[in-house]
Amino acid sequence: VLYNISDGVFALDRAGEIITFNKAMEELTGYRLEEVENKNADEFIRIFDASEPIETRFYCAMPDITPEPKGFTKDKITLVTRDGQKKYVKMTSVAIYESRQVNVGCIVTFKDITKEIDLESMKLDFVSMAAHELRTPLTIMRGYLSLLMDEAKDSLKEEYADYLEKTTVSSDQLHVLIENLLNISKIERGTLVLEKTKQNWVKLVKDLVEQFVPSAAAADLTLSFVDSKSTIPDVYVDKTTIVEVLSNLLDNSIRYTPASGRISVFVEESDGQVITHIKDTGVGIPQASIPHIFKKFYRVSTVLKEGKKGTGLGLYISKEIVKLHKGDIWVESKQGGGSTFSFSLPVAQ
Ligand code: ADP
Repeated sequence: VLYNISDGVFALDRAGEIITFNKAMEELTGYRLEEVENKNADEFIRIFDASEPIETRFYCAMPDITPEPKGFTKDKITLVTRDGQKKYVKMTSVAIYESRQVNVGCIVTFKDITKEIDLESMKLDFVSMAAHELRTPLTIMRGYLSLLMDEAKDSLKEEYADYLEKTTVSSDQLHVLIENLLNISKIERGTLVLEKTKQNWVKLVKDLVEQFVPSAAAADLTLSFVDSKSTIPDVYVDKTTIVEVLSNLLDNSIRYTPASGRISVFVEESDGQVITHIKDTGVGIPQASIPHIFKKFYRVSTVLKEGKKGTGLGLYISKEIVKLHKGDIWVESKQGGGSTFSFSLPVAQ
């Protein structure tokens, strides 16, 4: 039964030698049962988590085996086959206490997920290629639109000036969407590399808040930075991406707060973390949506002020960037009662 099962299954004895190796394992690794039987598993089962090798002592903790079944499960493990090919597997390993008498150390299953991973990678390739190809013509269109807005709008009939404005708004939206898609493909591929430098956090936040004051004022909102009572330590951050997080949160608070509202930004230090809060008096988020708010493409309302539509990607990207900085991001909000978005960053060592 074991030999013919469709997932790869193998068992090791208490010395880490292979005692069972089924047909799916033979197909996955390229080794035959006769070649591997009673040999040390680490010679043949070459698996890696990112580039870190995983040896039997990690997934098959035999010496300290306890009556509690011990499991080891890991997704997206790279398996190097006999001829050096790379495959991806999801592995599950269990060490069984009762099997001591029959000298079985642990039983491991490998589920081949190479096709899923390849498909995922093709999807990301497609998204990133399409977004790149769209970026160039859009940049040119936005250039001419901005020229028209600056130089020709006043000479146009009111109706045409309105068309021009609407086109500009939509092209800005398309620009944000394309940049977001490019960011997502980088994040999911793991190719978003942070270049961390030491930053005076308060100055960085304060300067950025200043830059958002005109757009807040245009929406009839008061945006201010509230100075902290204590001195805030420096942080190591990748300036470009962390500015994107702050901009996303500030932009959201402006978009989701009705006229004559207030947005305040403040920073505090707590338990070795620098925490930044963006508090608004806006529409708030329904309780049921809060657990989903940082998910990809999740949106609460579909239409924003001035008919602008969001993409539902800003908070997802922000969360991933904060995670890469080893921080956390969260929200406290009540429908109709405003929202406070906060994120933490470890203090620079
Ligand atoms: P987008 O704003 O482009 O839709 P985000 O990922 O930035 O995408 O936000 C996801 C959803 O979270 C938004 O659609 C909105 O419903 C909600 N949201 C985000 N920020 C706020 C805020 N400050 N106040 C109320 N709702 C918010």
